[in-house]
Amino acid sequence: MKLTTTILSPFVHFFYPHNCIGCGSDILESGNFLCLDCINDLPHTGFALHPGNPVEKIFWGRLPITSAMSEFYFSKDSIIQNCIHEFKYRGNKKLGLYLGKIMGKSILNSNRFSNIDYLIPLPLFTAKESKRGFNQSSILCSGINEIMNLPILTQNVKRIVHTETQTKKGRIQRWENVEKSFLITEPAMLKGKHILLVDDVITTGATIEACGREILKIEGTKLSVASLAISKK
Ligand SMILES: [Zn+2]
Repeated sequence: MKLTTTILSPFVHFFYPHNCIGCGSDILESGNFLCLDCINDLPHTGFALHPGNPVEKIFWGRLPITSAMSEFYFSKDSIIQNCIHEFKYRGNKKLGLYLGKIMGKSILNSNRFSNIDYLIPLPLFTAKESKRGFNQSSILCSGINEIMNLPILTQNVKRIVHTETQTKKGRIQRWENVEKSFLITEPAMLKGKHILLVDDVITTGATIEACGREILKIEGTKLSVASLAISKK
C-alpha cells in the first residue's frame, strides 16, 4: 500500500498540481485548496451574526426575509473571485463543498438561523445546469448540510424557460420575466416550513426576490437567504 502511494504521488501531483487557488503558491498542505496566508486573508463578512446587515437591506421593502447572510465580500482579482471561477467554471466541486462548509459553520454559529427546516439551492435553468453539469448552489448546500445536517430539496423549485430574449425587453418587462420564472412543484411539502434559499453570488437580489416570492406564497412559510458572496451593484 505504502509503495503504491509512493509511486503514484508524483503522477497525481503532475495531473493535479498542488497550488493555492488564491495566490498560486505551492506551499500548500495536502488536501487544502488555499495556503494559510490566503485562508487568513479570506474576506469574511461576519453578516450571519448581524441583523440589518447589507444583504438583508437589499430585500427591505421587497421581500419579508427572516435572516440573510453572505459569507464573503466579492471583489475583482481577489482570492474569492479565483475560488468562484475555479468552482463554477472549472468544475472544482470539492472546492465548492469546502466553501459551503465555511458557510455552514457561520450559519451554525449564529442563533439567527436556528430553526431552518430545508435547504433549497436557487435553481438554474435546466439547459444551463446541463451545460455546466451541476448547480453550484446545490454543491454549496451539500457543504452546509455536512455541518448542519439539514435536508436539501433540489426538485421542489423549478426555473421556467422564457422564449423571448431578455435583451429586447424594457426594464419592467424584464423584471416581469424574472418574476414569473419560478415554479413550486410540491407546495404542500413547504407549508409552514422555514426555508434557507442558497445562492452563490448576490448582486441586485432580483433572482432571489423572484424565487423567494413564490416560496412565501405558500401558507406559513418563512424564508432566509444564504449566499457565498455579496457583490456591489
Ligand atoms: Zn495562497
